Amino acid sequence: MAPPQSSEEHPEPARVADPSPLIWLGGGLPPRFRWVSSSLVEALGHPLEAWKTRGFVSQLVHPEELGGLLEAWGAVARTGEPRTLELRALSAEGRPVRLAVELSAVEPSPDGTGELIGTVRVLSPPHPPERVEHTAPSIDEMLQEITRTQRMHEELIDAIDGIVWETDANFRFTFVSKQAERILGYPIHQWMEDPGFWLKHLHPEDRDWASAYCMKSAKECMAHEFEYRMVAANGTSVWLRDIVTVVSENGVPRQLRGIMVDVTAQRRARQDLEQTVSLLRATLDSTADGIIVLTQDWHITAVNGRFQKLWSIPDAMLEGRDGRVLSEYMRAQMENAEQVHPRTQQLLASPEQEGVDVLELRDGRFIERYSRPQRLGDTVVGRVWTYRDVTVERRAQAESERLLREAREAIRVRDDFLSIASHELKTPLTPLKLHLQVLKHRMDSGQPVPAQHVDKALTQVARLSGLINDLLDTSRIQAGRLELRNEPVSLGALTHEVLADLRAVSPHRSLEYEEPAEPLLIQGDHGRLAQVLVNLLENALKYSPTGGTIRVRVERDGAQALVSVSDSGIGIPPDQKALLFERFFRARNAPISGFGGLGLGLYICRDIVERHGGRIWVESEVGHGSTFHFTLPVLEDEAPATPPETALHPR
Ligand code: ADP
Repeated sequence: MAPPQSSEEHPEPARVADPSPLIWLGGGLPPRFRWVSSSLVEALGHPLEAWKTRGFVSQLVHPEELGGLLEAWGAVARTGEPRTLELRALSAEGRPVRLAVELSAVEPSPDGTGELIGTVRVLSPPHPPERVEHTAPSIDEMLQEITRTQRMHEELIDAIDGIVWETDANFRFTFVSKQAERILGYPIHQWMEDPGFWLKHLHPEDRDWASAYCMKSAKECMAHEFEYRMVAANGTSVWLRDIVTVVSENGVPRQLRGIMVDVTAQRRARQDLEQTVSLLRATLDSTADGIIVLTQDWHITAVNGRFQKLWSIPDAMLEGRDGRVLSEYMRAQMENAEQVHPRTQQLLASPEQEGVDVLELRDGRFIERYSRPQRLGDTVVGRVWTYRDVTVERRAQAESERLLREAREAIRVRDDFLSIASHELKTPLTPLKLHLQVLKHRMDSGQPVPAQHVDKALTQVARLSGLINDLLDTSRIQAGRLELRNEPVSLGALTHEVLADLRAVSPHRSLEYEEPAEPLLIQGDHGRLAQVLVNLLENALKYSPTGGTIRVRVERDGAQALVSVSDSGIGIPPDQKALLFERFFRARNAPISGFGGLGLGLYICRDIVERHGGRIWVESEVGHGSTFHFTLPVLEDEAPATPPETALHPR
């Protein structure tokens, strides 16, 4: 009878090659599995928790093939290029299983810590433990094998870009990889021999918190990861990210293992970036201009405090970062929004274009707006809008333009005056000289002297003295020295006198007088008031070169006497009326009358009338004549005949 076959001799394949892919996810340095499909767990027999422990990769993969896997893992994690390799893994029972593994990167990262996805196919089922059919290896062979494996581990560890370390429960280093020398500059033996090495070389600013944090985590048997600075042998600070696992037994920490990665360059880059950003923010906030940056679809990417203040923008309005809302709000504040809006549209339609515009605000401010495209490399990504309050400059400019205009006008008036005055003063001299020469010739030759020559000479003398008197009066007014008498004056009588004198010298002109219904007494200077009336009448005659009737009307208007002198002459352009009573002013159409003048008569009239408490003005239409009116306060019957001096208005 054949002996029963033991299951040892004919083991049934425990797990048969499964054509469907088995999957895991993993990453980090050193690499570890993060997720494993249940079919893969089942295929190899290791419990799921074991897969997730640190270092399981090196337990799972056959030592001869571990190097190849780690190299491929790192390359795929860095470059993202998938790779396929075959390797032997050890099942839970310690049997080798041939696997085909395809590695692809989920998220490649330059430091090789990115996440990978592994697809596994079982090529051969686990074999029963290899029978020791041949002779057992010699001690030497075993030692050689151990040394070889150890060397490979060391090479692997040294290839890791970080300090791989191990300490006992008292934080004394029991292993430190060679990279420590390159990264911090201290020889490895110092780490191992000096029990307080780590603490001693921690940066003083990080020493307390980092050591306390590490001790607490170790005590609680908690894996942890933190960043701190150590002082290197050359005195520089090196930023390290330390990834630590705690090996414990029954809740008591036995060992700490970890890897310190040099993150100084990253930290520095981050710091530089933070500094640049905060510098930009500070610059943005300290500028005197309001600045806002918008993307092409109106999203606000930056805005400074000055902008907010300039436009009184409530904080809440900026919360949504919507440029359109802001634009509406700003438009409502603009006086010239109708002009500005099309310009804004034009700028938005041509992203490359720059522009400067002046915005007039309803509150009277002027704001200059600059707009430039915001570029990232060669691409326009948005638009920068800068706003500057130029109200003060604008007002100062307007004021200086006004002053300049006035100064130019004053110079023009002075020049005109000099040429007019010299011409006006010279004009009567020529006929005067002529008449005097005729008179002298007649007298020398014993001929009778004709009265008309004497009269004409006297007329020119009167004209000359009239001009000189006007100049004198003007300088008296300017100096505040034009004196006025203060006595009751009958306006009716005064007008009669003036008209009688005028009729005598201008017998051919038609002069009409409409008397007041009642006698009108006023208080003042008879001579100066007559001067006012004479001036208005002479102007009426002078500026009606084609003749026509001159009308004088004196009437009562409430408490005032109103005197009006009308002509049907050349009239006065509307824009010149307000200036007629200014010194040296002559309306632009005055020269067409053919008469000269100094532009002083009305200036003197206004001074006299106003100092009597009255008012003077003109109504006129170009080509249809003018009416000059002036008022004077009527002296009531009960008023004292000689009121005090103060009744007149001193200048
Ligand atoms: P002048 O007559 O010597 O120029 P006035 O001071 O009397 O100086 O008058 C100032 C200006 O007012 C005149 O130059 C003239 O342009 C205008 N003007 C005065 N009266 C009349 C008037 N009746 N009709 C038209 N223009 C007048």
